[in-house]
Amino acid sequence: MSDMLKFTHVDQHYPEVTPAQERKSNFDEIYGQFDPAEAAVQAARCSQCGIPFCQIHCPLSNNIPDWLKLTAEGRLEEAYAISSATNTFPEICGRICPQDRLCEGNCVIEKGFKSVTIGSVEKYITETAFANGWVKPIQVTKETGLSVGIIGAGPAGLAAADMLRQHGHEVHVYDRYDRVGGLLIYGIPNFKLEKQIVLRRQQLLKDGGIHFHLNVDIGNSITLEELRQKHSSVLIATGVYKSRDIDIPDCSLGNILPALDYLTASNRVGLGDKVAEFDSGLLNSAGKKVVVIGGGDTAMDCVRTAVRQGASSVTCLYRRDQANMPGSMREVKNAQEEGVQFMWLSAPKAFVGKTHVEQIIVQPMRLMAQDNSGRHAVVPVDGEQFTLNADMVIKALGFDAEELPVLFGAPELKTSRSGTVAVDSKTFETSMPGVFAAGDIVRGASLVVWAIRDGRDAADAMHRHMMSTRARSKAA
Ligand code: FAD
Ligand code: SF4
Ligand code: SF4
Repeated sequence: MSDMLKFTHVDQHYPEVTPAQERKSNFDEIYGQFDPAEAAVQAARCSQCGIPFCQIHCPLSNNIPDWLKLTAEGRLEEAYAISSATNTFPEICGRICPQDRLCEGNCVIEKGFKSVTIGSVEKYITETAFANGWVKPIQVTKETGLSVGIIGAGPAGLAAADMLRQHGHEVHVYDRYDRVGGLLIYGIPNFKLEKQIVLRRQQLLKDGGIHFHLNVDIGNSITLEELRQKHSSVLIATGVYKSRDIDIPDCSLGNILPALDYLTASNRVGLGDKVAEFDSGLLNSAGKKVVVIGGGDTAMDCVRTAVRQGASSVTCLYRRDQANMPGSMREVKNAQEEGVQFMWLSAPKAFVGKTHVEQIIVQPMRLMAQDNSGRHAVVPVDGEQFTLNADMVIKALGFDAEELPVLFGAPELKTSRSGTVAVDSKTFETSMPGVFAAGDIVRGASLVVWAIRDGRDAADAMHRHMMSTRARSKAA
């Protein structure tokens, strides 16, 4: 313990971040990595709290105090063993968790001192583990002979696949995309998460014996019922992809685009794909006056992508104020540094243009008192409006679930009022026996770390279900 508690004389320090002027011209990850001495000394700032609030507020309940202490002592292989015991993708969470709202935001080091830089240490531990060959593919000692079908190769599906394979099951992951990773590969831009980090994990999962079936759209290429016949149990981890729309005049003008179309095209181009709608200019913001509508992580990713594509101006319209934005404050700060202009308390009222959008009529808004959920409603400021020039508008207003009972031809699949798949909160089982669900398709649009948590928990529940079903059928 004597090595710890350095917060009294060591200041909080994050790894180097590429200066805004430099990072604006490329899609490289903007955060660097600690060197061994920095990692040790930053980890040693932790005061090893008796009740670690950092851990309580980490969705994976990561044993943060222990891996910080081991890092401070230079015992990195042990630190990795502990960190990877609860987190399937610590190198990803260390990069893209909104730590300011989770572990670091709840670090109670001591009043007046800044939090321990937990995410950066987690990334450092895992990258060190990769560099030293400590991260190994799964080695199954005893196959169970049972097989599982997972629909969706996003973080929820992959975390479940990893756990189920560790239990010795044959695991098949189906995805309608041509690559593994879900939003990790086609949603989140490179400057937050470089794609080779996701591809490296995919390779490990393949090497561990997990089978991937890409370009397979469940509901079209194969039915859910066919999957149920093939596998002992099935997990639905399809995420949420139906973009929310705005109901104002002239929404159908050209150049008003859904955020995910825009980000997917940009990520595909970064991966070396030929994207016709990017080449034609439709999904490329170079030289354009771009306006992004929304205030969450997706909106921040769009504005920062537009900056890097060479937009002539980038503006973010958000109807609440900065304090009430759903996105991570770190991402807002990064965007501001990169030259994005924010218009708080501003909502689009109408789009103007002949065939393509040319202007947006903007309605100033006013915050009301907090409602029961703690959110402030907003109302228009009477008699006020102004005009903003735009030749590309990106809608980043959130996502809803597709109608899976219709898509899967399974009316017996029960959904919630918001359209997400309804599951038993303990067993993750849906209304269809042997069919489970996890991640955004259950929770609604959320975070990678929650998808990992749900995928792991659902995998445990599926394992128990399959083993007990087999035991019962043997006994009968
Ligand atoms: P997804 O990642 O969406 O994966 C679902 C997979 O299912 C996809 O690969 C899809 O192709 C596949 N699929 C869907 N339907 C079918 C079908 N019928 N047949 C076969 N396959 C199908 N979270 C953070 O923690 N930090 C961030 O910085 C962050 N940034 C984000 C930025 C953007 C632009 C977006 C959109 C989200 C961001 N998130 C972030 C949220 C995070 O990405 C999601 O919460 C997480 O990816 C959900 O994981 P999932 O596995 O449930 O779904
Ligand atoms: Fe923090 Fe996310 Fe890591 Fe948990 S998984 S310790 S919340 S960065
Ligand atoms: Fe260490 Fe902060 Fe966690 Fe306390 S809350 S154990 S100081 S990281």
